[in-house]
Amino acid sequence: PSSVPNQPLDAQRLWRQDKDHFIHPFTDFSVFHEKGCELITDSEGVFVSDIHGNRFIDGIAGLWCVNVGHGRSEIGQAMADQATRMAYFSTFNNLSNAPAAALAAKLAELAPAHLNHVFYTCGGSTANDATIRLVHYYFNRLGKPTKKRILSRRNAYHGTTYLSASLTGIESNNWEFDTLDHLVTHVSEANLYRRPEGMSEDAYCDHLVKEFEDTIASIGADNIAAFIAEPIMGAGGVLVAPDGYHARMQAVCRANDILYIADEVVTGFGRLGHFFSSEAVFDTQPDIINVAKGLSSGYAPLGATLISDKLYEVLGTPQGKGGVLSTGFTYSGHPVSCAAALKNIEILERENICANVRQVGPYLEQALKSLSHHATVGDVRGSHFMMCIENVADKATKELLPLEARVGDRVAFEAQKRGLIIRPVGHLNVVSPPLIWTRETIDTAVAILDEALAATTASLQADGYL
Ligand code: PLP
Repeated sequence: PSSVPNQPLDAQRLWRQDKDHFIHPFTDFSVFHEKGCELITDSEGVFVSDIHGNRFIDGIAGLWCVNVGHGRSEIGQAMADQATRMAYFSTFNNLSNAPAAALAAKLAELAPAHLNHVFYTCGGSTANDATIRLVHYYFNRLGKPTKKRILSRRNAYHGTTYLSASLTGIESNNWEFDTLDHLVTHVSEANLYRRPEGMSEDAYCDHLVKEFEDTIASIGADNIAAFIAEPIMGAGGVLVAPDGYHARMQAVCRANDILYIADEVVTGFGRLGHFFSSEAVFDTQPDIINVAKGLSSGYAPLGATLISDKLYEVLGTPQGKGGVLSTGFTYSGHPVSCAAALKNIEILERENICANVRQVGPYLEQALKSLSHHATVGDVRGSHFMMCIENVADKATKELLPLEARVGDRVAFEAQKRGLIIRPVGHLNVVSPPLIWTRETIDTAVAILDEALAATTASLQADGYL
């Protein structure tokens, strides 16, 4: 299926090399040692293929990132041109490069009006990590050095550097890992599906805001630097907050001199039908927005933290005494990654992909909701191209299946057998496709999911779980 004539690959040898030498992120070693990995080797549009030539619809955009779809030779060409002309040079100490400069200006143009300054990183984790350092630096320079604590939310996912893993609130993600607990306090996530029995959406929102205010009061606003939140919580379960929640949380932050950081690593670059969702969808004006993933559609590693004019005024004040803004990475503003991002944005704009998401997104939501009749489907939620199925043992009580039933894995396995890759996350299945899925692709994918869920119910029954 690839648009590029590829060399034949030695499947058995590569499988063995991978298994013997590649420590994969988020690997379950109970299956890895026996099964190793499936190698995905080819791609085109909404499809990927494994090394044996089996073709699948990509239901997860790689990892919520291949927003413009696979095999875009224009992006490959832009990267090749830049790599040939000047693959890399420092951006430290008053040096820059053309794609990094042009992309910074483009991001300032696309972002909400007050966000005009870009700090480049290598991905989402490093964007969140760099942000916290910059936020601490900001308050130090303002003469408020006690403002250190960061408020985050349980079940949030913000990455896996030491600092971003500490912001992450998914307990299982930090299992047997350490976190910087003196820096981070987690408040409740907004989980409408599992909110207290009988509580209205409005009352639930009041409850969450009150908890937030109480937490601030108990720590003391003078000790708190920032609050970080994903507009829609992604890996933590595609949780859409109650109406008005984000704007109210931001108002509480403003009232307490706490910076508001939106982690738009997933929600940015079209997934919800806009380049940035904070203002367009959630009516917030974050002090900082972090992006990665869809910024380059995954064609090259890249992240960015977009900084408000107000913060830049302080961050950009000359230091004196030989001081410099001593944070950043060798690959901050990498020219090849920035060239990929510029071409990616050009495609997003030219093909009006955000409009496709706004038009087709509700159809995807409805099509997935039609699967609610399956015995194990407790909830289908999300927005536009960011969706999730929550599998349960009992719909009435919302009781979960035991972990060892691996229901998410079962559904994903059954779907993959039938030609669709979706992502299992515990008892959840995430659907976060490339933003070029059409109604026809949705119909095919949902028909596969329908069969996969039926097969899962049968296998759970056969194993005595239902
Ligand atoms: N923030 C969010 C909301 C994410 O979903 C992710 C990754 O999934 C990250 C940050 C971390 O990004 P990266 O894996 O590029 O470091």
